Amino acid sequence: MNLILFGPPGAGKGTQADNIAKKFTLHKVSTGDLLREEIGNNTNLGVDIRSLLDKGALVSDDIINNLIMKILSDKKFFNRLIFDGYPRNLNQAKNLDMLVKKYNQKISCVLNLNVDRKSIIKRILGRQICTNCGLIFNEKFKPSTNKNHSCHPKFLSKRSDDNEKTIIDRFETYLNKTLPLLDFYKEQNLLHQINGKAEIDHIFEEIQGIIASLEA
Ligand SMILES: [Zn+2]
Repeated sequence: MNLILFGPPGAGKGTQADNIAKKFTLHKVSTGDLLREEIGNNTNLGVDIRSLLDKGALVSDDIINNLIMKILSDKKFFNRLIFDGYPRNLNQAKNLDMLVKKYNQKISCVLNLNVDRKSIIKRILGRQICTNCGLIFNEKFKPSTNKNHSCHPKFLSKRSDDNEKTIIDRFETYLNKTLPLLDFYKEQNLLHQINGKAEIDHIFEEIQGIIASLEA
């Protein structure tokens, strides 16, 4: 079973990807991790990637496709992948299609965490981190209380880039880039829409239900 998970920034996609990977013993693939790993292994490709990133340049689709091919051709991960935040564009999606076929696999399903703009803004604007212990809270969804947190409230702080304009820009960019991908997978009858506004545990239950129906 190979899965793809989509969701806007702030929708809790990373958490869900980790939960799914753990529960179904899948290997999580994010291009950020793959790039860091390649740099860490100091391969020729890793050296190229590092110099691109140092220059602030974008890593090309060719490089990304190359890294994905390595993962798909690795027998260790045969049919055990969850793609988190990949593919990012149609070119990458078509390449992924080609590669899964080449290595006798398939994409079993595509999950999209569906969250509207208003909820994302509320969620991100309310986010607080305790600078003393590192715990994360949310003014609206999970406030810090003396039951769940022992530090002084003065340690609660908000991320500086979490202002509304940045959030809206990031969200719009994400939607514009992702909508064509959702159409692409919808045409292949692989797309499942998940209500990303629900609580984290409820979202995970819904996802588990979908995956169970795939395995049945
Ligand atoms: Zn604390």
